[in-house]
Amino acid sequence: MPRKQADLIIENASELATPEGGQKPLVGKQMLALRIIKDAAVAIRNGRIAAVNKTATIRSVFKASETIDAKGQTIVPGFVDPHTHLVFAGSREDEFTMRIKGAGYMEIHRKGGGILKTVAETRRASEAELIRGCKKTLDIMLEHGTTTLEAKSGYGLTVEDEIKCLRVLKLLHETHPVKIVATFLGAHAIPAEYEKCPSDYVKLVVEEMIPKVARSKLAEFCDVFCERGVFNIEQSRHILYAGKKYGLKPKIHADELTAFGGAELAAEVGAVSAEHLLYASDKGLKTIADCGVIAVLLPAASFALMIDRFTDARKMIEMGVPVALGTDFNPSCWVENQQMVIALACRQMKMTPAEALVASTINAARTLGKASEIGSLEPDKKADMLILDVPNHNFLGYRFGTNLVNRVIKDGKIVVDLE
Ligand SMILES: [Zn+2]
Repeated sequence: MPRKQADLIIENASELATPEGGQKPLVGKQMLALRIIKDAAVAIRNGRIAAVNKTATIRSVFKASETIDAKGQTIVPGFVDPHTHLVFAGSREDEFTMRIKGAGYMEIHRKGGGILKTVAETRRASEAELIRGCKKTLDIMLEHGTTTLEAKSGYGLTVEDEIKCLRVLKLLHETHPVKIVATFLGAHAIPAEYEKCPSDYVKLVVEEMIPKVARSKLAEFCDVFCERGVFNIEQSRHILYAGKKYGLKPKIHADELTAFGGAELAAEVGAVSAEHLLYASDKGLKTIADCGVIAVLLPAASFALMIDRFTDARKMIEMGVPVALGTDFNPSCWVENQQMVIALACRQMKMTPAEALVASTINAARTLGKASEIGSLEPDKKADMLILDVPNHNFLGYRFGTNLVNRVIKDGKIVVDLE
């Protein structure tokens, strides 16, 4: 029988490790059930996966114009980062020193630092400046294996500046190999000019920003920083329902700094995901497990804030909460590297490399509504994958502080080649 033509075959990999897609986020023991193929190959055609199997089998069915010999290496799906604050100007290395000396998040916030400092700088920046900064970040993320990510606005906090940041994301999505799913996070902080009348700002978010963002189709999701001293439960509920009315699916920054009832609210409004959850109550976790809300865990945020507490991932997995892992890339948590997040998840949250891989691929893709297209290596899915220069996936998290990526394939094209 004549062999079928593929565009690219990756062969001789010592291991291919992938979650299996299915219809629902993976929970509990499913997070350990990777499909592992030794001496593996992948055939790619028209930007999609044609087949995944043993090298000998792929070779007997396919021929290709281009082949990659992945001897001694591991193929995994491209990472999906489900939580970033990609668009901002400036930096906050001065606060890093304050933090080392013991200043807390809210103390820095009250001194006019933190988010509000970045807001001022982002408002002053032109669209071109923001694009330049983000492009640099995306290049580094891609080199470390992230092929799709979620990015939030939230450093503009005026109608014009939020739209400006979302336009930057749209342009980058259209021009950069890394694909971006945009989230409107106008409710990231109360801007300084509304300090005395926060309810007026909530009104602005609900009555002007959300309709405008939805009409211009600049975001798929609406998020809110639901926290003591930021947006309370009632305001958060109001904002998320307003977003829903305009077709923006709800997400929520929940229980990051205090036990605030954010997890419960996520379940109530039908959020796709609840993010951070450092202080979520058992009742809140039970509620999101029952409703299938995905917990997006961000261990790099704890690491960056220099707090000893990490989210209790083991408890969540045992309770049946679906878990995803993200960077929380932002000026106070400046990490582009999902492999670093995996290392922290393994060491500080006792997730296994297999669980961390599931949480960084298929479950993360599910939070973006993209699990039928990306997040696992299965026929007909987009050919987004990494060739890691290690013999098996258990090296993820085990080796840390260096980049294990050798090549990145996005939509069937080699976009990073460090060979
Ligand atoms: Zn965040």
